[in-house]
Amino acid sequence: MKKGVFWLIILLLLGCKAFQQIAGGVYGSAGNEHNPTQGVISPGAYQTIEIAKDQVYQGNLLLVNKEYPVHKMGVKSDVVHLYQNEELVRGYGLLDSSIQASESVAKAFLEMVGAAQKDNVSHFMINSGYRSFEEQNQLYEEMGPELAMPGGYSEHNLGLALDIGSTQMKMEQAPEGTWLEENAWKYGFILRYPEDKRAITGTVFEPWHYRYVGMPHSAIIQDHHFALEEYLDYVRENEHLSVQVDGETYEISYYPVSRDTTIDVPVNRYYTISGDNMGGIIVTLYPENEKPQQE
Ligand SMILES: [Zn+2]
Repeated sequence: MKKGVFWLIILLLLGCKAFQQIAGGVYGSAGNEHNPTQGVISPGAYQTIEIAKDQVYQGNLLLVNKEYPVHKMGVKSDVVHLYQNEELVRGYGLLDSSIQASESVAKAFLEMVGAAQKDNVSHFMINSGYRSFEEQNQLYEEMGPELAMPGGYSEHNLGLALDIGSTQMKMEQAPEGTWLEENAWKYGFILRYPEDKRAITGTVFEPWHYRYVGMPHSAIIQDHHFALEEYLDYVRENEHLSVQVDGETYEISYYPVSRDTTIDVPVNRYYTISGDNMGGIIVTLYPENEKPQQE
């Protein structure tokens, strides 16, 4: 009996150690210790994960507009010069050799362009991607407040926006523009400033400006014809949403974060965490055996 108790304690201790290693792995798999946004967990019921207050300012769902500026820590950490990464530039053109973009966003764009090509829509180009605060300020001075935002107030400063053009004609008339309006959501992108959302976004119609938010958020935004502002309100008001995309169920949860805190997530499911840049985080649980497209 005594021996039995001894072995039970040893087993419990071993169990604790294994659990700690799994927990460590969740953060480790985020790819970037500065930005722990993604992980997968081994069997068990629920797992408690730590949320740092800074995570409010990081992720693909950040709202950036005149009211909510970019936090420096929200800038994508994988920004590259596209011209120097030819594997990222296939089937479309670049306005010039200085264009930068987040590598993960560029990969989603590449996949999207490949799909458009199958529909015989193939004259895309990237006119602008990531811009530093300094470049944004310069643009603001040149273009004025009607056409540009000051440094720190543009989604281009995050690395999550692409200005997409057609080499043939203006985007308003181009097949490339029409195709994107119908299909960009499948690749995680949204038309950020639709014509009929000007009162909400505070920005004029920009048929070229696409914002990466990732699935399943882009699908919901398309389905409800939301502006990003409206979608984030919708998530915050509902707190927990269960949505079906292509027959697969995603769970989306909102948590207000005023200080470092913990949340519980189910095991055996991939998840992503993104701040909303307004004081909350959004946890997205993926269908079983499905991985997020992007970090
Ligand atoms: Zn833009």
